Amino acid sequence: MKLEPTLLKQLVRAVMSTRADEIDCGECFEQLDCFVEMALAGKDVSEVMPLTHDHLQRCRDCREEFEALLKALQALETTD
Ligand SMILES: [Zn+2]
Repeated sequence: MKLEPTLLKQLVRAVMSTRADEIDCGECFEQLDCFVEMALAGKDVSEVMPLTHDHLQRCRDCREEFEALLKALQALETTD
């Protein structure tokens, strides 16, 4: 019995794409400082940090964390 090469390619692609497209909350949290700075600097975060951006779209906990951090930094900037 031989493995069908196209099937194998599809399998590999499926595994790689789920890995490439998803980070967990821990990884998201590690990126959050940087992500907030990018957002405050007016960068297109979906372009610069697509994985973190994607996670924040799907994960409420992390999004709340992000919004809290964003507000804190904005408050710092305005009181300066
Ligand atoms: Zn999360």
